[in-house]
Amino acid sequence: MSDTVERIKCLIIGSGPAGYTAAIYASRADLKPVMYTGMEPGGQLTTTTEVDNFPGYPEGIDGPTMMVQLQQQAERFGTEVRIGMVTAVEFSDEVGGIHKITVDNSTQLEAETVIISTGATAKYLGLPSEQRLRGGGVSACAVCDGFFYKGQDVAIVGGGDTAAEEATYLANICKKVTMLVRRDEMRASKAMQHRVTSTKNIDLRYNTEVDEVLGDMVVEGLRMKNNQTGEKETIDITGLFIAIGHKPNTDIFKDQITMDDTGYIKTEGKSTKTNKPGVFASGDVQDKEYRQAVTAAGTGCMAALDAERYLAEIGSVEEVTTSTYN
Ligand SMILES: Cc1cc2nc3c(=O)[nH]c(=O)nc-3n(C[C@H](O)[C@H](O)[C@H](O)COP(=O)(O)OP(=O)(O)OC[C@H]3O[C@@H](n4cnc5c(N)ncnc54)[C@H](O)[C@@H]3O)c2cc1C
Repeated sequence: MSDTVERIKCLIIGSGPAGYTAAIYASRADLKPVMYTGMEPGGQLTTTTEVDNFPGYPEGIDGPTMMVQLQQQAERFGTEVRIGMVTAVEFSDEVGGIHKITVDNSTQLEAETVIISTGATAKYLGLPSEQRLRGGGVSACAVCDGFFYKGQDVAIVGGGDTAAEEATYLANICKKVTMLVRRDEMRASKAMQHRVTSTKNIDLRYNTEVDEVLGDMVVEGLRMKNNQTGEKETIDITGLFIAIGHKPNTDIFKDQITMDDTGYIKTEGKSTKTNKPGVFASGDVQDKEYRQAVTAAGTGCMAALDAERYLAEIGSVEEVTTSTYN
């Protein structure tokens, strides 16, 4: 039976900027990587129309096109991209051990190295009007999309550290930022709260929730509701930022790998090494701090180099190649 199980030198789970960058480096190093794309081929950037901050695109580029180009670049060097979802893993504790992988609940694989690039999913409120206007003014990333609302009035939802940081980021760019906090206080640290309350163009509303996002094709306004009094109020805005958290896509790795208390995979020092030999993590799945395409790509590169070095150490590839620069 085990004779029929496919053995992969470098398995990449996830097809966002981290996965594809790992694939480019791993294929150029002749690690013959196989990638499983998951449910969202191309990752989070396929949900956005404009990416203006990825180096190398002076005019900007739309997310889906950028991800198709990354796929083509990875395939050019021999990456095998497969549609499929990794549904279970059994990682070895041994150096040089073989990791067992299940795809789509049926196909069994073995891998010498695994690069986890399964990303994180932004949480949304779940309102129909919010979902309809995603990409039309509703965004889960202020650093990515705030610039498009320069000099305009926007709103942000959330009361944690990320929301506070994004609110002050937006306040530097936008005319006015209305901040909706569901409770009667913010969860953010005292220092972050102070930054918010001392920023003049942030209008902080406690006990306030989104009742409806207004607009047909693009955001034109917001109806807010005070959850104590029931009072509703409508404001004119062009952008709504949802900053209520992200969920790392790590459910299948539970009990297999060390994570922090919010489910992000822990990596060692400046490397992408996890606690399991031969298993590496890159991109948003191990980074709740920066969450950008370029940082995901950077750690994807690191993961492929770490995998290459690991394979050289265990004697599975002859020596660390100079593929990086060739
Ligand atoms: C609306 C929006 C706009 C954004 N705009 C920008 C921007 O302009 N600039 C910027 O730098 N960043 C932007 N970002 C952030 C950026 O998209 C992320 O930082 C980046 O995509 C993270 O890359 P990643 O490769 O780590 O993961 P992701 O892009 O999240 O990709 C994860 C991949 O893993 C796959 N996957 C998950 N589970 C499994 C599984 N079990 N098996 C197989 N595959 C699996 C998914 O299908 C997906 O392909 C934006 C994000 C959003 C949501």
